[in-house]
Amino acid sequence: MKNIMFIAPPAAGKGTQAELVVEKYGIPHISTGDILREISKEDNEIGQYVAETLASGKLVKDEITYKLIEDRLKKDDCKNGFIIDGFPRNLKQAYEYDKILKKLDYEVGNVILINIDKETLEKRIVGRRICEDCHAIYNINYKNSSPKVDSICDNCGGKLYQRTDDNLESFNTRYQMYLDKTEPIIDHYRKQNVLKEVDGNDTIENIFKKIDNIIKN
Ligand code: AMP
Repeated sequence: MKNIMFIAPPAAGKGTQAELVVEKYGIPHISTGDILREISKEDNEIGQYVAETLASGKLVKDEITYKLIEDRLKKDDCKNGFIIDGFPRNLKQAYEYDKILKKLDYEVGNVILINIDKETLEKRIVGRRICEDCHAIYNINYKNSSPKVDSICDNCGGKLYQRTDDNLESFNTRYQMYLDKTEPIIDHYRKQNVLKEVDGNDTIENIFKKIDNIIKN
């Protein structure tokens, strides 16, 4: 199957949709945000830098992301397709990604843009909770996405936590970063004729149906 890239503002549901794609198609989900959150727990200089940058809502230095992406894409499990989420985040990263793909002999695949209103994102950001162990995503502001037991993961019983950057102040910085840095990459992929747009102001199930149709075609 074709590789998949998600482009969307913060809290648009990329992670949730990626989980559904993983469940149906069994391809790996590569999220730079998830990888960086792991690095932020390390007790060293880089761990501390990443933790502080993530909490502020700004982007980490481009160079940190390149090696991390290339090393991950080289793994065997990517050979039958993968979902990339959170990378590239700016034009410089998009150009670097083109080079990495060429080097590894991969196609960019379907670039799926999830469009969504800012008000909806604000509501989602403050309610989002994530499982410490399996990274499943919940939202306590939506009945259908709330965990059955408060603060406990339905899937694995792990503890749920709130991301350090899931507050309105960091959200505003992240949203502005998206408009300034990430939106310009949309044209880059439009020109390559690989961009597919999906309306994200909808239920999780309906958004997934639209994404699944893109994957199947
Ligand atoms: P996400 O989980 O995709 O919302 O990413 C969370 C945070 O990780 C972002 O706000 C950035 O601080 C950092 N991050 C994730 N991906 C990248 C990237 N490609 N380049 C720079 N920073 C990133």
